[in-house]
Amino acid sequence: MNIPFSPPHIDDAIIEEVVSALRSGWITTGPRTKLFEQKLAEYCGIQHVECVNSASAGMELALRWFGIGPDDEVIVPAYTYTATAEVVLHCGAKLVLVDVNDDLLIDVDKVRQAITPKTKVIMPVDIVGLPCDYQEILDLVNEPEIRKLFRPANDCQSTLGRILILADAAHSLGAYYQGKHTGAVADISVFSFHAVKNLTTAEGGAICLNLPETFHSESIKKDFNTLSLHGQTKDAFTKTKAGAWRYDVCTIGYKCNMTDVAAAMGLVELARYDQNILPKRKKIFDAYNQAFANDPRFRVPTYVTPTKQSSYHVFTLRVNHITEEQRDLIIVKMAENGVAANVHFIPLPMLTAYKSLGFNIQDYPNAYRQYACEISLPVYYDLSDEQVNEVIRVLKAAVSEVL
Ligand SMILES: *Cc1c(COP(=O)(O)O)cnc(C)c1O
Repeated sequence: MNIPFSPPHIDDAIIEEVVSALRSGWITTGPRTKLFEQKLAEYCGIQHVECVNSASAGMELALRWFGIGPDDEVIVPAYTYTATAEVVLHCGAKLVLVDVNDDLLIDVDKVRQAITPKTKVIMPVDIVGLPCDYQEILDLVNEPEIRKLFRPANDCQSTLGRILILADAAHSLGAYYQGKHTGAVADISVFSFHAVKNLTTAEGGAICLNLPETFHSESIKKDFNTLSLHGQTKDAFTKTKAGAWRYDVCTIGYKCNMTDVAAAMGLVELARYDQNILPKRKKIFDAYNQAFANDPRFRVPTYVTPTKQSSYHVFTLRVNHITEEQRDLIIVKMAENGVAANVHFIPLPMLTAYKSLGFNIQDYPNAYRQYACEISLPVYYDLSDEQVNEVIRVLKAAVSEVL
């Protein structure tokens, strides 16, 4: 048996909708993207969503919109994918990495210690689909002493009057926090629709606006739309209306709009996400949980708590009392037996680019501890019960061989 890690689920319904988009005569940003944005907003329980061509682009636009630049500091967990930190560096701001808890989520006490008068944004990451401790983070940024430290440098920073919470929700579409969907929890949340994510448009992302009511989120959505299309005041679709040719460029923008071909995939997947996609993933999580939770060699990931429900993105099993080298060996042995496992993620301070910036993994001991014994197991729509059992069998055999 050969079991890949995370192949996309492409069926006739998706293919037909993509073909319809292709045949419609409108392939770039147009009616399907607008509809997908509306459906995502309804799904999350918010008013405004702006789609872009990746989560990375969405997060960078959010930082640019908030005016983040060289004098600012942005707090990011050390345990994440490089995209979260890269966008901070692209804006020229100072990247401040902090350690994570055993659940791989940003450690709010560490965030508190990292806050300075230059801190403008905190970027919690809903690793593998479990929402971060948003209430604690929101309470922290609203503490009078912390608000007093905040030094607004432009209108939107003054309007907010505190540190912005920009969630990297790349993994957590469909997850819940205190009864709300992610997207409706942090000030701004950004989903990814990259090929390996729960819902894919091949490449894509969505910016979810949930700012305090003092902001006019409809016009902020327009700002994001303009920023994603060269700063041009009219998108190509609007310009096709007879006589509406004249445009202006009001700001120096970027090019990261979503195409209608991509949105076609997203529309089909979102319509069946709750009834079909998430239950399937949950079933796989439950099977792994049952196989490993009572075996003292393993520690299973948390995916439901009284206030949180995961989107079941990746099953991050931990093997107790092993070294990083033993973990690597287990993954090799699994591969030899046809099962693709993975590690989510290598903490940023272990990667060359971040080492060159002066980060050292010794300053992030828990990120290292969790990483060293972590093995991510396949979770995807087309994974059968038989294959799940095979993953469990192969993994247990590999662990017995190595330990
Ligand atoms: C995939 C991923 C991203 C980037 O998403 P793109 O849509 O590929 O830009 C960001 N953060 C995390 C944690 C991710 O896993």
